[in-house]
Amino acid sequence: MTDLPGIVITGAAGRMGRMLVQTVAESDRARLAGAVLRPGHPWIGQDIGTAMGGPALGVSATDDLVGAMAGAQAVIDFTTPEATREVAEIAAQARAVHVIGTTGLEPEDLNRIAAAARHAVVVRAGNMSLGVNLLTGLTRRVAAALGAGWDIEVVEAHHRHKVDAPSGTALMLGEAAAAGRGRALADLQDMDRMQRRGAREEGAIGFSAIRGGDVVGEHDVIFAAPGERVVLRHLATDRGIFARGALAAALWGQDRDPGEYDMMDVLGLD
Ligand code: NAP
Repeated sequence: MTDLPGIVITGAAGRMGRMLVQTVAESDRARLAGAVLRPGHPWIGQDIGTAMGGPALGVSATDDLVGAMAGAQAVIDFTTPEATREVAEIAAQARAVHVIGTTGLEPEDLNRIAAAARHAVVVRAGNMSLGVNLLTGLTRRVAAALGAGWDIEVVEAHHRHKVDAPSGTALMLGEAAAAGRGRALADLQDMDRMQRRGAREEGAIGFSAIRGGDVVGEHDVIFAAPGERVVLRHLATDRGIFARGALAAALWGQDRDPGEYDMMDVLGLD
C-alpha cells in the first residue's frame, strides 16, 4: 500500500479540493499523502476526512506544504494564482509532479511555473476533463477546415462563485481555434464587445461569459456563416471529471522528464 505514489492536495477545503481528497482517497493507484489549507483554517490539525463530514482518512489537515511534501510524489493544486506560484517552487524543490488546475494565471505566474518545470514535471490545463480536451482537438480541426469566412464565438457558463472570466477552458478553446487558423489568439480575441459599438471584425474570435447558480461548466464553440452554424458543445455536470483527470495526470507524470505538459499529453490526444 505504501509504495503507491503519495499525493498532496492543496486548497483541500475548496470545491475542487474536497473532490480531489475524495478521489485520491478512493483510488487504488495512489495514496493521500497530505491535505494543505491556508494558515489559520479551522480544520488544521483535524483529520481531513472527518473535517469534510465523512469517515477518517488518516491524514491531518496542515498549513505546512513543505512538510506535507516530504515522502510525496505529487501535488494536485486547484487554488489561486498566488498559492500556485508558491506551490510550483516547493514542488520543484521536492522534485514532485505538480498538477495545476488553477486558472486565471498571469504571464508572471506562467514564468515562475516555467522556471519550476526545469526541475520537475508540471502538468497544467485549464480543464482536466477528457471531453473538453477532445473538444479542443475538434475545435482546432473545424477552425482549420472552415476557414476565416466562418465567425467563431466561444460562449461559457459557470457557477456564481467563479472569479475569472472568460474561463481557462474558454481560453483553451479560443487558442485551439486560433491555432487551427495558423494564428495566435492574442491577435484575434475580442473580449470587449460590450464596451464599444460596431460590427464584429472579420476573423475575430469573440468571447462571452455567463455566471450563475451552481453551473459546473458549459462551453460552446460556435462557427457561424451566412445561412448555417456549427456548434461544438461540452457540458460538465460533475466536478469528479476534473478530479479524475488531475489524478490521472499525477500518475502519468511519475515517469516523465522535467518539463511542462498538458492534458493532451496525458490523454495522448496530440
Ligand atoms: P474554491 O472553492 O475557491 O477553492 C480554492 C481553495 O484554495 C479555497 O479553499 C482556498 O482557501 C484555497 N487556497 C487559496 N490560497 C491558498 C493557500 N495559500 N494555501 C492553501 N489553500 C489556499 O475554488 P474551486 O472552485 O475549487 O476552484 C479552484 C481553482 O480551480 C480555480 O482557479 C478554478 O477556476 C479552477 N478549476 C479548474 C478546473 C480544471 O479542470 N483545470 C476545474 C474546476 C476548477 P480559502 O477559501 O481559505 O481562501
